[in-house]
Amino acid sequence: MSLIIYDSQIPDLLVELAQEFKLYVPVEKDLASFSGQYIWKEYEKSDRLALLYPLTVASPKEFLLPSKDVLFEYDKEEIKKTKSSPQIIFGLSLVDLLAVERLGKVFETPVTDLNFKERRDKTVLVAVDKLSPPQDIEFDVYLQEIGDGVFASFAGSKLGKKIISKKYFENHKVKTPKIYTKKDSYLSDPDLSQAVAKSKNHPIWEELTKTCFGCGICSYVCPLCYCFDTSFEIDFCNNQQGTECRNWSSCLLKDFAAVNSCNYREELKNRIYNWYFHKFVRMPSEYGFEGCVDCNRCIVYCPAKINYQKVLRTVLNDYKKRTKK
Ligand code: SF4
Ligand code: SF4
Repeated sequence: MSLIIYDSQIPDLLVELAQEFKLYVPVEKDLASFSGQYIWKEYEKSDRLALLYPLTVASPKEFLLPSKDVLFEYDKEEIKKTKSSPQIIFGLSLVDLLAVERLGKVFETPVTDLNFKERRDKTVLVAVDKLSPPQDIEFDVYLQEIGDGVFASFAGSKLGKKIISKKYFENHKVKTPKIYTKKDSYLSDPDLSQAVAKSKNHPIWEELTKTCFGCGICSYVCPLCYCFDTSFEIDFCNNQQGTECRNWSSCLLKDFAAVNSCNYREELKNRIYNWYFHKFVRMPSEYGFEGCVDCNRCIVYCPAKINYQKVLRTVLNDYKKRTKK
């Protein structure tokens, strides 16, 4: 026996959850020009839910690491830490759930980022996918589609148990779920990191500058890019109040590494190489995983149609040829 929920019950569950939490869901966009695209937004009853979404434009990163994150506010008298509200991200795919897990590890290593932690501690993760729940990734509730519009439910925390004990879930005999298998991809090739590390002089980086705009869109849509800059906003007229914000940025932008009159990565080819180096060399060495979960957003939304998988394959194949592996 297992607890299941039918998709017809999910809107009622969401209405109830929205009374207690800020609730974010994936929906199909209504705008004609974006027809067929999917986004994350705060839930409204009229939304066209897109559980099992093909691919949302932006990732759920926004709810844990907002594009403009107010770190603190101050006036003449005091510094006020900003508080976040309890929230639910409902409908994460397994891949986006993995990205949230990795982002959490980045923001606690080597020291805990208190703003991120405060938001993460107040976030309930509800994943929805066709595959069975993973053993090694945190979630509160996991809904596995086991038939058309029928979801087996699994709790991964106390709060998750409370959610799946609500009246919308029923006891039912269900077939054994599919086994969770890690995607077999070249990302798990043991030579990948070394191949990228040794590719600084590979002609592909120069080649990419012919098409790459250096626009940073690949970073903004990526659930695991977290480059930022900070800004102070001061209101001298109004009791000298102000805020300090952490804003999304991208290491692909021309001025990202500019300090005073020196720009450490002015050349686009160096910035492109750095993007790959960080994801596939530095992050595996610092955290034990790549800065990529293979979600494909950077391929789909790159205006120059650059495919990072093809780039990595070229670098990897050439490395294997050179080292005769
Ligand atoms: S790879 Fe594509 S999305 Fe990324 S900076 Fe270049 S053009 Fe922009
Ligand atoms: S596929 Fe692209 S957007 Fe997705 S995680 Fe990897 S690098 Fe980021």
